[in-house]
Amino acid sequence: MKRELAREKILQLFDRDELLDLLKELIKIPSHKQVEWQEDRLARFILNYLRGEGFDNLKLDYIMENRPNVLALLPGKGGGKSLAFNGHLDTVPPYNMVLPPYQPLIKNGFLYGLGAVDMKGSLAAMLLAMVLVRRSGLTLQGDLHFTGVIDQEQCSLGTVELVRRGFKVDYAVVGEPTNLKICVAHKGMEWMKVVIRGKSAHGSTPDKGRNPIYMAARVAREIESLNEILQKKHHPLVGSPSINVGVISGGDDPNIVPQVCFLEIDRRWTPEESLESLYQDVERILNRLKLAYPGYQYELLSMDDRTCPLRNIPLDVNPDIPLVNSLRRNLEEFTGTDLGSTSFRGWSDAALLVRDLDIPSVVFGPGLLEKAHAADEGIEIKNLITALQVYVGLIIDICGISEG
Ligand SMILES: [Zn+2]
Repeated sequence: MKRELAREKILQLFDRDELLDLLKELIKIPSHKQVEWQEDRLARFILNYLRGEGFDNLKLDYIMENRPNVLALLPGKGGGKSLAFNGHLDTVPPYNMVLPPYQPLIKNGFLYGLGAVDMKGSLAAMLLAMVLVRRSGLTLQGDLHFTGVIDQEQCSLGTVELVRRGFKVDYAVVGEPTNLKICVAHKGMEWMKVVIRGKSAHGSTPDKGRNPIYMAARVAREIESLNEILQKKHHPLVGSPSINVGVISGGDDPNIVPQVCFLEIDRRWTPEESLESLYQDVERILNRLKLAYPGYQYELLSMDDRTCPLRNIPLDVNPDIPLVNSLRRNLEEFTGTDLGSTSFRGWSDAALLVRDLDIPSVVFGPGLLEKAHAADEGIEIKNLITALQVYVGLIIDICGISEG
């Protein structure tokens, strides 16, 4: 069957309200880290939803107590390529939301609620796309997978588990909000901690001590200069690397020269850089200060206990692959424009799928990243619908329709 015909047959079954209702249900189930059992309820909801639609290849894969990935498979008849939709089940807590986070609201063409953009909108579009394919009665050639993963907003333990189990498909789409831009690259993110030890003394006799806060201030200034140097570098897809001191902490009381002071650093790195070089840059700064101001001890540590244990490495995928070509073609057919491919501003699990599982993967989903984690998180309904249409088109192109 021709792709256009198959797509039409499936999209005839599409109903706007069904998509919006599904997204509303996802939003009503909080899944952030302040919720007991975090993603568990949402994972179960998705499992039951797909089961109700006749999916029988379903699994809750518990990574820790009460925190499962939800995995679904619509098996193909053979002969096509396999495709996986990857989406994270967790959101950030509603830190600064001014709208009710779990009571979805439709207004002026947007659907508002916590996670509407990051990334329950995309989850809804992926799930309904799969459901419509199944309902159509058409049979796919290649396998179609859904991997709803936990913990992406923290350490990506859900996708780390996919890596550990050797999950394998031909292509994957990570549905982070890209405003329907096809993202084939993004920066890596590394968190480092500098520990500076001096010598404690009474606050009335600072000359008897060595104050690590002053050294931390010098390190911070040097990092600021390093950032200026980094800003001059330019990667064609992801732009400039950067470095930022996000936390400085140390000392107990004004009348004490403290013993120790900490700096926490965020480093965004490009596919051209190496992990080692990030540490070497900071080591160089510390070594210079060591010589200029003896009597202090410095330690540079990775904060990989708070980030992905496999490291938040950069993404860099060849844009000339069937996955990207299909997304471009479908986007052009549904929206009238082909914008090619670009880079994603944040970090995504696609980087792990590519490096550790050798699955060519891109980031592609509805919603503006600026609206993620925002006080008025909301997704444009038009954007959401286009995502579903493109996902359906992608499934047909990659998996193929069985003629039998
Ligand atoms: Zn996200």
